[in-house]
Amino acid sequence: MLKIENLQASVTEKSILKGLNLTIKPGEVHAIMGPNGAGKSTLGHVLAGRDGYEVTGGSATLEGKNLLELECEERAREGLFLAFQYPVEIPGVSNMEFLKASVDAVRAHRELPALDAVNFMKKAREACKAVNLDQQFLKRGVNEGFSGGEKKRNEIMQMMLLEPKLAILDETDSGLDIDALQVVANGVNALRSPERSFIVVTHYQRLLDYIVPDYVHVLADGKIVKSGDKSLALELEEKGYGWLEGGAA
Ligand code: ADP
Ligand code: MG
Ligand code: MG
Repeated sequence: MLKIENLQASVTEKSILKGLNLTIKPGEVHAIMGPNGAGKSTLGHVLAGRDGYEVTGGSATLEGKNLLELECEERAREGLFLAFQYPVEIPGVSNMEFLKASVDAVRAHRELPALDAVNFMKKAREACKAVNLDQQFLKRGVNEGFSGGEKKRNEIMQMMLLEPKLAILDETDSGLDIDALQVVANGVNALRSPERSFIVVTHYQRLLDYIVPDYVHVLADGKIVKSGDKSLALELEEKGYGWLEGGAA
């Protein structure tokens, strides 16, 4: 699904990713943990093709396709989904318009039949229900005046409608209460399938009780410095990151 080799990237000429390797097979869930400032969000932004992140070496392919040469929107159409750590507001554009346009673009690219308005609304209502969001949210401006928890639920709803091949959730758990955390986890778990992969960036072992990962990686100082199974998350909770190469003391 995703193959990252020796990826190096900088932001404003500061080197952040320093030779990162990661291979993700279809159906796998990989958790990425690590100290603040290690480059976790940068990895997501680089994969999504956000402006301001310069790739200085290495490669990243999605199903064999070179991601790094595609525009941001093209990557989304190829099936990449990035739930932003701080979701943006788009006042004046309703959530529903935004979602419909995104879903239309993705389906057209995958040569799937377009969803008519009725079917789209049906799916959108189901997705709202799955994440416990009132249907009124479909009519509101994208993220306009949403609480932190509502934004996160909204992200998961977007993901459910877009049906990505690879979803990257960056600290989708930060600031969530236990109920909202469970809703997010349920959304992810409902989408887990042998064809779909996830990268879950989190600071909290707790989330991984609900979204059980196949692999856990520690990203420190721009590289993956340790990988293991879900027991690694428990070990990190106990010991912190200081004992690892590049881990903050
Ligand atoms: P993490 O998500 O692991 O906490 P980030 O990827 O957000 O880490 O940040 C890694 C490093 O890159 C930090 O030192 C951060 O200050 C820097 N950085 C990230 N984005 C920017 C940016 N847009 N401008 C300047 N520095 C940035
Ligand atoms: Mg951070
Ligand atoms: Mg981050």
